[in-house]
Amino acid sequence: MKKSQYAVETKNLSIGWGGVNVLNQLNFELYSGEKLAIVGPSGSGKSTILKILAGLILPTKGEFSIFGEKQTYLRLDQNNPPDVRLVFQNPALLGSLTIEENVGFLLKRNKNISKKLIHEIVNGCLAEVGLFNVNNKLPNELSGGMQKRVSFARALIRDQTLNTMTKPLLLFDEPTAGLDPIASSRIEDLINKTNEKANGSSIVVSHVLSTIERTSDKVLMLYGGKFRWSGSIDEFKKSNDPYVFQFRNGKLDGPMQPKDI
Ligand code: ADP
Ligand code: MG
Repeated sequence: MKKSQYAVETKNLSIGWGGVNVLNQLNFELYSGEKLAIVGPSGSGKSTILKILAGLILPTKGEFSIFGEKQTYLRLDQNNPPDVRLVFQNPALLGSLTIEENVGFLLKRNKNISKKLIHEIVNGCLAEVGLFNVNNKLPNELSGGMQKRVSFARALIRDQTLNTMTKPLLLFDEPTAGLDPIASSRIEDLINKTNEKANGSSIVVSHVLSTIERTSDKVLMLYGGKFRWSGSIDEFKKSNDPYVFQFRNGKLDGPMQPKDI
């Protein structure tokens, strides 16, 4: 295993559907341990970046590495996949499995881990997100907020069959979209806690300002297939860059217009 200072490195990463370049030659690096926010209007391709990094889709052009390893296959086709954990916008729990089975799903395929140990690991992860005595419930017996917590607990599980030399890469897609400010704060705390516990690097995709500011060190602004601005979170708060200014203040005037999307 090659050691790399980067959790993610992309070179001219591009993807298109039907002749439209959704991502157009993107270059960025995420240092190991760093916390990045990718922001931009709806439809700008933020989820697409996360899906590529999670190995769910392949880029049409360009290349990318995770923990220094060039990625050329979808995740399911890889022999030694990197430890990348994607938390979807909706909790995406398996409806016919109990909470314990959902959270411990990854561990089950490892024949060396006993049921008892899985139970203990799952309980530990559920406790981290503030859930107790829900192991035998089905997802639809829990509230939306609790289901979201379960999806975070699932991201805390380390797949023992994966290479454990690297810190995990955690990806959060719109974790607070549609939540009230208090619920958002709780999820933001949970993101930071999950990050700390997993000792990883993270990318949070969001257009909620508090989420961007509370969970990240640096920001990339995506629009029209390109990164238009990058900087630290402090620069993001103060910048008069036309993209950042329009985004932060929700202005209709500015470089980002519906016709371009
Ligand atoms: P965001 O997360 O920033 O809202 P997405 O990454 O979901 O944006 O999508 C970016 C663009 O790519 C959208 O215009 C969307 O319609 C298009 N797109 C995403 N996935 C597909 C797909 N599988 N096939 C065709 N177009 C897609
Ligand atoms: Mg999206």
